[in-house]
Amino acid sequence: MTDTPAPSASKALWYTGAPLDRLSHRRADDGWMTKKLYDPESRIVAVWRDKSLVHNEDESALLPTVGEARELLDAGRYHSFLGMRDGTAYFGVDLSHHEDPYQAHPQIDANGAFEDLRKVGPALAQAEGSILAHARGLMFWHRRNGFCGVCGSETKPEKAGSQRRCQNPDCKTEHFPRTDPAVIMLVYKGDNCLLGRTRNFMPQMYSTLAGFVESGETLEEAVAREVLEETAVVVDPAKVRYWASQPWPFPASLMLGFHAEAETDEIIVDTEEMEDARWVHKSQLDHLEDFGMKLPRRDSIAYRLIVSWMNGEA
Ligand SMILES: [Zn+2]
Repeated sequence: MTDTPAPSASKALWYTGAPLDRLSHRRADDGWMTKKLYDPESRIVAVWRDKSLVHNEDESALLPTVGEARELLDAGRYHSFLGMRDGTAYFGVDLSHHEDPYQAHPQIDANGAFEDLRKVGPALAQAEGSILAHARGLMFWHRRNGFCGVCGSETKPEKAGSQRRCQNPDCKTEHFPRTDPAVIMLVYKGDNCLLGRTRNFMPQMYSTLAGFVESGETLEEAVAREVLEETAVVVDPAKVRYWASQPWPFPASLMLGFHAEAETDEIIVDTEEMEDARWVHKSQLDHLEDFGMKLPRRDSIAYRLIVSWMNGEA
């Protein structure tokens, strides 16, 4: 991985380009689903405590077939149908309740390693990264929603693990997977862009500003509010332009990327949220290390927002 921007930035972001047909109309078809679940060609996408199963040698995705590792389905606490790819069904399986997931199947013990997708993601083929991100996000949601938010009773998966239902007969509330929308924005004024860092960033890393969308606001309003709160720079919501989005299941976000031209340039850093924020000239971006800074990781939409603006694609 390098900190030097790529010469051009398309919108082909990591964890996008999902190759699976989700076939949502099949989720309630128990007969079809059972057939797929026991089809020896179907593939298992194992997740253990937010970590994804990869080959221990080259960190490519390890997706055993049901024929190879049928026991993993029984060993899982939950499984969810993810979709079909070239006639093959993919099922996410959660092994988080095992203290030692390597005991769940000999193939995992011999060939596999559970790794954080944030670590191995940038090296994966795009389709594999998308499938692992999908499974990780869905398994996280299952683990966090074992009890009903309405009455506190136990919930159980239904419709091939695509939703959960409260088991209290007086409640029966359906619970659906949640994704938290977060805005992330390259703010610029002339040939300068606004980059900042929080205390939990890697040393020297500067990135675009970002924050979660709050109840009752538009995406554009969220962009303007976050920029104002963090740096006191004024952005007109009417001038905020959508660029692209990226699933970011770390643990449950959808990053919505924007470019926004600033109305003002005075920065007052909110030190509760930010360690620093500064205007960076376009000409500095391809050698930021000379200024004691680094760009964010290449699999992030932040990196792509910066590079697209630098290349005049914004
Ligand atoms: Zn309930």
